[in-house]
Parts: sequence; C-alpha cells; structure tokens
Amino acid sequence: MEKRVYSFAPGPAVLPLPVLKEVQRDLLCLPGAGASILEISHRSKAFTQIIEGAEANIRKLLAVPDNYSVLFMQGGAFLQFALVALNLLRGAKKPANYIITGAWSTKAIKEAKTQGTANAAWDGKPDNFVRFPNQNELNLDSDPAYVYFCSNETIQGVQYRTEPIVGDAPLVCDSSSDIFCRPVPVEKFGLIFACAQKNAGPAGVTIVIIRDDLLQRSGDDLPSLLNYRVVAENKSLLNTPPTFGVYVVKLVTSWLIDEIGGLEKMAEINRRKSKMLYDAIDQSDGFYQGHARPESRSIMNVPFRLPNADLEGKFLAEAAERELCDLKGHRSVGGCRASLYNAMPVEGVQLLAEFMQEFQKKNK
Ligand SMILES: *Cc1c(COP(=O)(O)O)cnc(C)c1O
Repeated sequence: MEKRVYSFAPGPAVLPLPVLKEVQRDLLCLPGAGASILEISHRSKAFTQIIEGAEANIRKLLAVPDNYSVLFMQGGAFLQFALVALNLLRGAKKPANYIITGAWSTKAIKEAKTQGTANAAWDGKPDNFVRFPNQNELNLDSDPAYVYFCSNETIQGVQYRTEPIVGDAPLVCDSSSDIFCRPVPVEKFGLIFACAQKNAGPAGVTIVIIRDDLLQRSGDDLPSLLNYRVVAENKSLLNTPPTFGVYVVKLVTSWLIDEIGGLEKMAEINRRKSKMLYDAIDQSDGFYQGHARPESRSIMNVPFRLPNADLEGKFLAEAAERELCDLKGHRSVGGCRASLYNAMPVEGVQLLAEFMQEFQKKNK
C-alpha cells in the first residue's frame, strides 16, 4: 500500500484510520448482510440498523433532546442555505437575521434572500472577517423568523465561544466544519446542520438536527425532498438516502464514543492540537501571522500567512516533502491553512508545529 500523508485538507478531509480500516475490511461483505454496504437495499434490515445506529450515536454524543429530529439529507451544506429559508422563512411576514462572520455565512444570506427578507445582524466584512461579534454588537429585529450564524468559518478560521442570545427566536447554525469538535447545548438551538465531509464522514450526506415545532413551518406546497417535515415523517427514507455516507457517519460517531470517549474528551484533544499551532504563530515574532483575532480563533481551521508569497510557496513545498500536505489557504484569502479536524492525529500537528519553528529559523 502507498504511504498515507498527514492531510490538513479543509474538506473532504482526514477520517479516523480505524474507521477507514473497518470500511476496507467490511467493504466486500458487511457482517450479517452477505453483501457490500454498496450493494444492499436502503430498506434492508442491515441498513435500517445502520441509519438507526447513526442517529442514536448523534443523539448520544450531542445529548440531543427528545423533541428534536435528526435527518440525513443530500445536497451538502450549500443546499441547506436555501432549505433553511425555504422552510423557515418563506411566507413569514417577518425577516430572518444573519450574523455574517465569513465566506460561508455570506453565501447563506444570499441564498436566504431568494426566499424572503434576510437582514444582516452584524457583518464582519469591513474588518476582513477576523472575529465573532460580541452580543452587544448584534442588531436583531424585534421578532425575527430566526437568527442564523456559522459556528466555524472554515476559510477565515473564526469560531464562536458562546452562542448568541436571541430570545425566543430559533437559533439556526451551520456547524459543517466543527460538528462533534466539542459539546454543544443543542437545546439552545432551533436547527443545526452540517455536511459530513469535514468532521463527520464522507461527502454526500448532510446531518440536520431540528426542533420538532419548527417542522410545522414547512409549507405543504414545498417539493417533498426539500420539506423538512416530510423528510422527518419519512425518517430520511423518502427516497434512497446516501447509504455509504450514513454508514461511515455511523462508524465515525461510534469511534468518537468508544475510542475517544465523547465530545468533552475530543474538545480537550482539539484544544491541545490547535494550541500547538497558535503557540508556533504567537512565538514567531510576527514571522507567522494568524488571520483570526485570538478570542475568535478556531480549534478546527488555522489560517496563517508568512512574510511574502515566495516564502509561502517554499513553506508549502518543504512541508509536502515531509508529508505535511494540503496546507494551502483558500484562494479567497491566500496564505496557508491547517485544518485540524477530529481525525487529525496529535502527532501530525506536532510535526507541523516543529516544522514551522524550523522553517522560521532558516528563513527569517
Ligand atoms: C464546506 C462548508 C460548506 C459547504 O458545504 P457543501 O457540502 O460543499 O455544500 C458550508 N458551510 C461551511 C461552514 C463549510 O465548511
């Protein structure tokens, strides 16, 4: 087998090695099913156990209250930008409020505006999206249809510390790049969605956790597959779900429960990993410049710059020689970015932090 590198890719991204090995071992024949996960019916007993197991794992990990539904959908997080507004805003006689902290929430409000009135409660663009706003900076309407935010801006590396306080309005969250990175008080949210390919599984499946009373907002005139209420009523099996994706999500969430020991433990590891890189940045006398302000720094994505583009190119090339790969920043912000999702081993981050210090010494 070819050697695996350390992939700091932003998504699709690294998966836990024990999960990949289990997928490989069972790919030809899922125990008890007599066939591959790629070959069995989504209505079979084996798949029913998988999708129910994935839901049970998610409920356990996040302590999801009973009055919430867990859905498995397709179309990625990007489709959720539209579906949130299609289901919760269209037809409402009031606006939705969006907290704009980076590239993904900017895309989300644009999609929402196709369905109704969406006002920015705060916009970090003038500051180049370096932080999450304070509560007193939020300009909320008196009775918004919902308040939307992105818990972790994957491109800018901005992550919230405490969720915004929004009164009775449902809080809607795009948690695509930080779901399962730490515990979350789900009861404070109306809806949380996350595509799987950053921190939860492969591309193709999107997790939606929605408070049941909000399902009543979905209009009867919506196409069934775009209607949260209909998808919930059919337990995500209205049509063929992304079976392989759901299967891997089940394995990843089982790994989090059985091998990591839950989200408190995962958060501790993630804080430790990200601190190694932020320390390397902070102790570099300005050689490395982090993008986000310290109080909003993400424990999942660490974007940083070097003194000039030539050094950045050299850094990326030399890092790749050491099998520290996919560290190029997003084309919209440039520089470098290390994504440290749950499955990135501590030793990979340690190697990167050591390389950063060494590279600085040689090139300052
Ligand atoms: C990757 C990402 C998206 C887009 O996900 P797709 O599945 O490609 O649509 C949306 N929001 C955030 C925060 C992301 O990281």
